Amino acid sequence: MLIVQKYGGSSVADATRVKNVANRIAKTYQQGNGVIVVLSAQGDTTDELIAKAKEISSNPSKREMDMLLTTGEQQSVALMAMALAELGVPAISLNAAQVKMHTSRDYGVARLKKIETGRIESELYRKNVVIVTGFQGINRYEDLTTLGRGGSDTTAVAIAAALNADKCEIYTDVDGVYTADPRIVPNAKKLEEITYSEMLELASLGAKVLHNRSVEMAKRYNVELVVRSSLNESEGTTVKEETEVEKMLISGVAGDDNVARVSLLKIVDKPGKAFEIFNALGKNNINVDIIIQSVATDGKRNISFSIDKDSLEDVKKIVEANIKKWGVAGVEYDENLAKVSVVGAGMVSNAGVASKVFEAMYDADVNINIISTSEIKISILIEKDDMKRAMRAIHDKFNLGN
Ligand code: ASP
Ligand code: MG
Repeated sequence: MLIVQKYGGSSVADATRVKNVANRIAKTYQQGNGVIVVLSAQGDTTDELIAKAKEISSNPSKREMDMLLTTGEQQSVALMAMALAELGVPAISLNAAQVKMHTSRDYGVARLKKIETGRIESELYRKNVVIVTGFQGINRYEDLTTLGRGGSDTTAVAIAAALNADKCEIYTDVDGVYTADPRIVPNAKKLEEITYSEMLELASLGAKVLHNRSVEMAKRYNVELVVRSSLNESEGTTVKEETEVEKMLISGVAGDDNVARVSLLKIVDKPGKAFEIFNALGKNNINVDIIIQSVATDGKRNISFSIDKDSLEDVKKIVEANIKKWGVAGVEYDENLAKVSVVGAGMVSNAGVASKVFEAMYDADVNINIISTSEIKISILIEKDDMKRAMRAIHDKFNLGN
């Protein structure tokens, strides 16, 4: 079999962990498999490199930032090759330029376009374990680029797709994907399987187990992923197109307590208003999440939307600058909100999920601000202080726990 294994920063944080991971890799190799390993930078290395840059410049060039950040992954792969050599396992480390992992131009947020397979294949042919830097690529100028924070998952999936690997295992410091964050919901249960779509929803909802784009890519190229811990032998969670266990109604509950709401009040009701407003926000790179527009009364409408709290200051500026032009009579901000979402592929064919969520909120005495639904997700906006209680109440209502 050809197996891609990706190890995150915490799994290779220090010498002991590097050696521990080397043992795992050696075992897989000695079973007769071809092994490609993708690594993140050790521990907090990426953050430390960012801090170093800040000591020198408040606004360093993006090209030089990538030149700097890519050194983190390069340290990991070299150290891992040494650790494998100590175990008598032939291994070679390669960076993005040596493999030729081509990306778009944009430093810091580059997208992988094409991974050349020649070098990796010839190293596999020579029976080497091939250890590749995650998170980086080269652009058309042959400059190093990075894929955005957490991007090593995406490197692993892209390599698995390009080489048509039999398995892509993502090793991290948790045992897999859970029905909820176990720090908030203590009886949360590890899922055996989850669909790509559910994982995408959970990933974007702040269940930070996998990089969002890695899941998108896995779905597109049908790469089955296994998320598991590098610290124990637990089986992990498989992410795939369709789950085999009887279609679960609900697979998880996620919470995000960094949400703000903006309400634009009494807007003149005529065509093009929503476009004008959201176009201005979009042009300023504001990521708007839930939008609701109320029915017009006496020729006026209200529009409310939620955003990441971190972009509230930017939004305030945009609103202030445009309020007259938009014909908005008043504006209201609420920055103490949380979003709780329930995700499940089984929702599509099952009515009554929403009412069960509302019942749970009623029982727990949680007031709902805004509701939004999609085929496999229901999200509610509530007071931040209610988030944990709400998550536990929903988790219990659907009997998701152990
Ligand atoms: N080292 C990078 C980061 O910390 C990439 C990764 O870990 O996937 O964001
Ligand atoms: Mg990292």
